[in-house]
Amino acid sequence: LEEQIRHSDRLKLIGEVAAGTAHEIRNPLTAIKGFMQLMDKSLIDREMNRERDFVQIVLSELERVNGLVNDILLLSKPKEVKLSPTRVGSIVKDMIPMLRNEAIMRGVIVHYEPWTEGPLILADKEMLKQVFLNLGKNAIEAMDGGGVLTVRERRGAASEVEATVDIIDTGPGIEQEYLERIFDPFFTTKEQGTGLGLSICRRIVHEMGGAIQVETGPEGTMFSIALPTLASSDKRMTGFGGALPFDVV
Ligand code: ADP
Ligand code: MG
Repeated sequence: LEEQIRHSDRLKLIGEVAAGTAHEIRNPLTAIKGFMQLMDKSLIDREMNRERDFVQIVLSELERVNGLVNDILLLSKPKEVKLSPTRVGSIVKDMIPMLRNEAIMRGVIVHYEPWTEGPLILADKEMLKQVFLNLGKNAIEAMDGGGVLTVRERRGAASEVEATVDIIDTGPGIEQEYLERIFDPFFTTKEQGTGLGLSICRRIVHEMGGAIQVETGPEGTMFSIALPTLASSDKRMTGFGGALPFDVV
């Protein structure tokens, strides 16, 4: 246990340092981007195409740094969750086309198994979308030589109070020695990875009262997100004697 506490203290410290750094990086980054865009314009006017190519590379690398900074800030200072009743399916459906684009480039086929009459859940739609996107991207990135990504909505395995989404890939799986570290901030096995995706996913899912599980083997990996249904949250909330803070449609 002591070991665990030390580990979580360390992660907390790393998080605070990272958040401070990310914040300080953001302003100069905005300035660099602005001036690079101006430079691009002036190069267009002078038809300096070779130089323009360089500027484009700088801009796209800046985008990458920007994404990293945003992830760090999101992780360390999470936005307030805005819960509203929604169907899991409507969130998943929105992000399938985004994943398809990514998948096509890597020769990955996307299978979508919706649960049309699925129950309402209480969720922050934008944040939950980010969870599925992160997991979907990981799955696609794990299938370098192509494969199948299955996104499946279903009833919770253990109980009726959960709606579950499975993200399944046919990649090589996660090595046993890495398995307990994949949710740690900054743990990555990718050359261009940030290692922040899964820690963000876990935080968001937990904030919504849900759970995230992983099963992995040489045939592939499955991440399962279980979320409490509105009916079960209703029971939890009225248990405290309060009315629901929103209209149920
Ligand atoms: P990143 O994608 O930037 O590496 P993540 O937090 O999203 O960071 O993932 C952490 C690590 O977990 C990855 O680098 C990879 O080693 C492992 N991982 C996550 N999802 C999968 C998957 N579907 N298949 C195999 N490995 C995975
Ligand atoms: Mg990732």
